[in-house]
Amino acid sequence: MKTRQIPDNIYDIIIIGGGPAGFTAGQYAARAVMNVLLIGGSSTFSQVTVTDLVENYPGIPEPVNGIELHNKFKEQATRFGLEITSEDVTSITKKQLGGINVWQVKTNGNTRHSLSVIIATGASWSKLDIPGEETFIGRGVSYCATCDGPFYKNRDVVVVGGGDVAVEEAIYLTKFARKVTIIHRRDRLRAAGILRKRALANDRIYFAYNSVPEEVLGNDFVTGVRIRNVKKPDDYRVIKTEGVFVFIGLVPSTNIVRGLVDLDNSGYIITDRDMKTSGSGIFACGDCIKKLFRQIVTACGDGATAAFSAQLYVEELKGETYGDFGYQP
Ligand code: NAP
Repeated sequence: MKTRQIPDNIYDIIIIGGGPAGFTAGQYAARAVMNVLLIGGSSTFSQVTVTDLVENYPGIPEPVNGIELHNKFKEQATRFGLEITSEDVTSITKKQLGGINVWQVKTNGNTRHSLSVIIATGASWSKLDIPGEETFIGRGVSYCATCDGPFYKNRDVVVVGGGDVAVEEAIYLTKFARKVTIIHRRDRLRAAGILRKRALANDRIYFAYNSVPEEVLGNDFVTGVRIRNVKKPDDYRVIKTEGVFVFIGLVPSTNIVRGLVDLDNSGYIITDRDMKTSGSGIFACGDCIKKLFRQIVTACGDGATAAFSAQLYVEELKGETYGDFGYQP
């Protein structure tokens, strides 16, 4: 087969995103000796870095701090020579360079080109979008218990949401707070069984079920939250609190690929099981893709698959395909 020389200034793979999916993709691509660069956001941090303890990552039986796990992902990827930079990607555009189809990836300071791109941009926290929320961010409203929990020693706080994150973080907050009230819009929690069990057994955790926050109240700092009972019309009450922790799910960080690849109605990237998107040479993995189960371990699995698919795509372009993997570029 005739091979094609690609200039050194064109990467084989650019990975965008420095969470578990991105670093796993980076590790696999670097270990396959691809010319690969990982661009992590300059100010954003992966969800794992704001997680106190991770206890369900296979092979690590003792609970591990999120930042520690993140550092291990990074260390392992760099051991295989992964090049990493911290910049914010501003655009991805299709270009022709010396007769070769490439993706041009621009950041605030640099323009780079690559044969393929892996999107591993994850997701960020949803907001409640109620009066007072924006006003009191940093003055009682928080989206990170690990960052802000220690400020609430012996104080009363509320947690909004009923999923894994809300319940995990509520349990974490009981290390500091005197009382943690979980405000949840249903009559039971969505979180995994083991978390529900722990929360229900924790005597510092209280529940306001069938309730949604309507307004965050305060003067200079938060003093309370007004909630509405969704089962009873006009049933409002105020919970006195100094902290409102919001954990109501995720919004995918996919604005940079809007118009380039197919997204679902919520903005998640649609991939096939090989992590291919509708854009030729664009792969995606982790929390930014449409999928059933968002976990660190599934993000890592996606990342490994995305790297291998990108590798096959690049080898096909270069005429270096090793064998038939049933891969269709
Ligand atoms: P999630 O599972 O989507 O739960 C969001 C919660 O917020 C739900 O209980 C939802 O209520 C509630 N909610 C959504 N919008 C709301 C609104 N406007 N007002 C009030 N409540 C609202 O999100 P998550 O807990 O952030 O978790 C994100 C993903 O990460 C999930 O896939 C989760 O499994 C995964 N995760 C896993 C672990 C772990 O395995 N240890 C840890 C952290 C995260 P409803 O229940 O009524 O929809």
